[in-house]
Amino acid sequence: MTNPLTLYLAAPRGFCAGVDRAIKIVEMALEKWGAPVYVRHEIVHNKFVVDGLRDKGAVFVEELDECPPDRPVIFSAHGVPKAVPAAARQREMIYVDATCPLVSKVHIEAARHHENGLQMIMIGHAGHPETIGTMGQLPDGEVLLVETVDDVAGVTVRDPGKLAFVTQTTLSVDDTIDIVAALRARFPAIVGPHKEDICYATTNRQEAVKAIASDCDALLVVGAPNSSNSKRLVEVARKAGCTYAQLVQRATDIDWRALEGIRTVGVTAGASAPEVLIDEVIDAFRARFDVTVQMVEAAQENVEFKVPRVLREPA
Ligand code: SF4
Repeated sequence: MTNPLTLYLAAPRGFCAGVDRAIKIVEMALEKWGAPVYVRHEIVHNKFVVDGLRDKGAVFVEELDECPPDRPVIFSAHGVPKAVPAAARQREMIYVDATCPLVSKVHIEAARHHENGLQMIMIGHAGHPETIGTMGQLPDGEVLLVETVDDVAGVTVRDPGKLAFVTQTTLSVDDTIDIVAALRARFPAIVGPHKEDICYATTNRQEAVKAIASDCDALLVVGAPNSSNSKRLVEVARKAGCTYAQLVQRATDIDWRALEGIRTVGVTAGASAPEVLIDEVIDAFRARFDVTVQMVEAAQENVEFKVPRVLREPA
């Protein structure tokens, strides 16, 4: 006799339109140009996805100068500093930019504010490739980074009347509201997006977690340790009342001893985690419990992004 378990499956979860497009770009580039195709940085932050593409002939590197100039290179979904495509052009390389269009939109915003003479503040996580890419749209030192409400008090600006802010797309919606409020309180003239730049996928996945977290004895987020939006889902679950919320890369990471005696579990996945890994986690629960799956849908998504034209044209 196995114990009954209600498994709340959050929706939406897993792949977003930007991740889907980025993976398609690598696959289509391999079809068009053959292997090897180089990819600067993990195309999306998921080992399973990266390993699968590597098996098909993608070579993952961290810097452009690790790529031979006569092979195509793809830039990851997180975006790259302006200097990277510029260097690729200088080396006369074929490159395809898989930056998510919602990240590119932030790049354009930052450049427009800079052209209008405003100093930029970015709300984001230091060292994350998206933050590096967005800050790298402007000359060195032109973008100030704030990560927390406390950072706002310490930031030194040129002119408080000439400021604008952008945000990373994968932040915690609630934490960002607080940081934006602190910025607006200290710099009332600051210009920013209508809400913030957090994307629809990040927002919806956080909403879905909030909808189930307080009903869950435990909640598992399928995602990678370097995936910003996945880590935020764990934080959101804890804040929303689920004391045991953990990130797992796949079913083998689950700590079953910690789950002894649970009656309810929530399952979701970050935007770069494929559905096959979520199925694997659900199957692992089915093997140990008498599972009833209950899907809880916080939003419907029908966003799709086209791949760049170069991949839609014949070789
Ligand atoms: S999480 Fe959002 S910004 Fe990032 S790739 Fe997905 S849709 Fe684009």
